[in-house]
Amino acid sequence: MLSVVVPMYNEQLALPHFAERLRPVLDDLPMPYEVLCVDDGSTDGTGDLLREMLSHWPQLRVLPLRRNAGHQAALTAGLDHARGDWIVSIDADLQDPPHVIREMLDVAQRTGVDVVYGVRADRSTDTRFKRVTAGLYYGAMRRAAGVEIPRHAGDFRLMSASAVREVGRLHERGRVYRLLIPYMGFRYRTVEYRRESRVAGDSKYPVHKMARLAAESYTSFTTAPLRFATWLGVLGFVLCSTFAVAALVAYATGNTLPGWTSFAIVIGFVGALQFLFLGLLGEYVARIYTEMQARPRYFTDVHPPDDPARQARSEREHRTR
Ligand code: UDP
Ligand code: MG
Repeated sequence: MLSVVVPMYNEQLALPHFAERLRPVLDDLPMPYEVLCVDDGSTDGTGDLLREMLSHWPQLRVLPLRRNAGHQAALTAGLDHARGDWIVSIDADLQDPPHVIREMLDVAQRTGVDVVYGVRADRSTDTRFKRVTAGLYYGAMRRAAGVEIPRHAGDFRLMSASAVREVGRLHERGRVYRLLIPYMGFRYRTVEYRRESRVAGDSKYPVHKMARLAAESYTSFTTAPLRFATWLGVLGFVLCSTFAVAALVAYATGNTLPGWTSFAIVIGFVGALQFLFLGLLGEYVARIYTEMQARPRYFTDVHPPDDPARQARSEREHRTR
């Protein structure tokens, strides 16, 4: 079975178009499916519309959230409740074309990989601002996470149930899936598609939500900013030492006011010392943070990719156990 997870927030304008395009694609698939719509605390008519659609679309399931939890959290809810053997996540605004799902499934089944990323080959329908910020974001995150992150792969992706389960076992709550999944090193393929423009309604990602996603992405993959104080402290000590020599020379040659030398040296050193200890504190906070995230130190590769038959067998055993 295929599960299609759709987080949606105030999408009453886009929803009818979305359903109209998605349903024929899914009805044509050679396998059963479910569409799991996560209503992320919408305040418009999205909830009513979904409830109405339930009566004439038997494969539709609705998971309403009491309040707006945010895109990634809504995705988490959807992944937690999906029942399929394959799970694809897609936006409700038709920016991710539904017909690509079929291609993703073909690729996954043919190659035996765990993840198929939808990669935006053409972002010309996005604003210039969005393209520039996206470029900066993917570059910075590649450096912070230290893993290959497929560029311009957003949250349109297909995953196997076992991969979804493995991601679900992570301890951290603030999950940025587009980074965590590449980080976990699943075998993957990519499928390119043309990013279309939003079919109706406005983007639900205003600048402050984008900034929050960027901050969450960065801090969940690096504690480098906490070390910054250490380097300032070290730099302070070096500068202060040179300055102290100069101040002592000035003192010896009598070019100072009484008391100036000792004051200047003490202030400089105390400042450097404070940064150093702040950095030291930061090192421990960083350790507490990473211990709390409790990411696995390694990811065992349970399914050799060259043997799809064996993979299917172990999946079956896993389920009967
Ligand atoms: N979304 C959500 N909760 C939010 C914000 C967005 O579930 O708090 C959904 C939204 O309905 C859409 C998807 O996440 O299905 C992507 O959002 P959007 O298309 O507005 O983002 P953009 O394409 O502008 O980056
Ligand atoms: Mg969109």
